[in-house]
Amino acid sequence: MLIDYDEFSRRADAIRAQIADACAQAGRDPASVELQAVTKTHPAAAADYAARYGLRSVGENRVQEGVEKRAQTSAAFPALRWELIGHLQSNKAKVAVQHFDRIQSVDSEKLLMHLDRAGSEAGKTMPILLQINAGNDPAKFGAEPAEAARLLESALAKKNLQVDGFMTIAPLGPTPEEIARHAERTFSNLRALRDELAAKFGVPLRELSMGMSGDLAIAVAAGSTIVRVGTALFGARETAAV
Ligand SMILES: *Cc1c(COP(=O)(O)O)cnc(C)c1O
Repeated sequence: MLIDYDEFSRRADAIRAQIADACAQAGRDPASVELQAVTKTHPAAAADYAARYGLRSVGENRVQEGVEKRAQTSAAFPALRWELIGHLQSNKAKVAVQHFDRIQSVDSEKLLMHLDRAGSEAGKTMPILLQINAGNDPAKFGAEPAEAARLLESALAKKNLQVDGFMTIAPLGPTPEEIARHAERTFSNLRALRDELAAKFGVPLRELSMGMSGDLAIAVAAGSTIVRVGTALFGARETAAV
């Protein structure tokens, strides 16, 4: 069951306050951090809540779920942006390009090629983020940090792709202390990698999509520009989602 809008609105206020606190401590402008609502496994109404509250975008894990949900959301919010944050298989690249506004989970040469071709066919320049396994988590998707320069170079050469920055997911841990330690290491790694490659290739790579419900303050301290938040906004998911 989805929570009601008032409850959502209180939760969103609390997260915004948490982001503002983390920004104040880091000397950052809170407007430089976007709160993205992760609506996976929740009904289309969850995306309507996000838009009604004034959030600019929602994140979905699976292509088909995102496509269906987008079609079901209110026509009152045409400006709401839909972003794919889950692993994407090459054979779904075309559908993803047609239905999403940005793809955050690009992690291979092969996928770059398919997305570029799909962008060309759709007559569109597809915004993407490169997903980097900055925490060296064996259980996570994402290109290895050592491959990031090569992947970026290849992405920048694609005519129908626009690289906005990087995305990562921090490894889990058994205790809150371990989780925080992993998150700090992962996010500062990604920030350093972004700074290095932005300078090397002379491109802004403005976006750092890092931080979720459990580690968003750590991510903001490390320079995150997009926090992807599901549980803290909508409550626990009933169905398992990868
Ligand atoms: C599910 C998911 C999130 C949101 O996680 P919460 O812990 O529920 O905030 C963020 N990013 C990705 C890639 C996800 O799959």
